[in-house]
Amino acid sequence: MMKKRIRKSATIIGTLMILLHSVDYAHGQESGTSAENEAIFPKGELGSEQFFTGNVWVTGLIENDDVYNMLGGNVEFEAGARSNWHSHPAGQILIVTSGIGYHQIEGEEKEIIKKGDVVQCPPNVNHWHGASEDSGMNHIYLIPNTEKGIVNWGDPVTDEEFLN
Ligand code: MN
Repeated sequence: MMKKRIRKSATIIGTLMILLHSVDYAHGQESGTSAENEAIFPKGELGSEQFFTGNVWVTGLIENDDVYNMLGGNVEFEAGARSNWHSHPAGQILIVTSGIGYHQIEGEEKEIIKKGDVVQCPPNVNHWHGASEDSGMNHIYLIPNTEKGIVNWGDPVTDEEFLN
């Protein structure tokens, strides 16, 4: 009797899990861009238009403290969205987790970055990063040695610069 009841509960739980998974899958299929379907981290907070052009969502993942002196998080850029020009006093590492985007160091060609790419932005080098015009992009950012500073913001990236 007991055995049977346990087996029945297990079956119900199994069925529920399959159902929940199906619902989640269906929801993912219905909603938005491919970048959203591949999302690893929560979407986070809408980035300030003071620092970004277009819709950008930022989620903090690594809180700065005296042990690691490091900041990390995820940024989701909608197609066409990008950061302002900026620099990092101790540099920055980007790990692209989905989509296709751009990274440009001032005075150099804009480079295409895509899922799986790792980009190192050297200290105090003016640059910007963001989605491409046709695809959203998610990247993780890591800012080391935060005791030297985090970011110095500059002007927005114009449409001409973005598409150049
Ligand atoms: Mn940067």
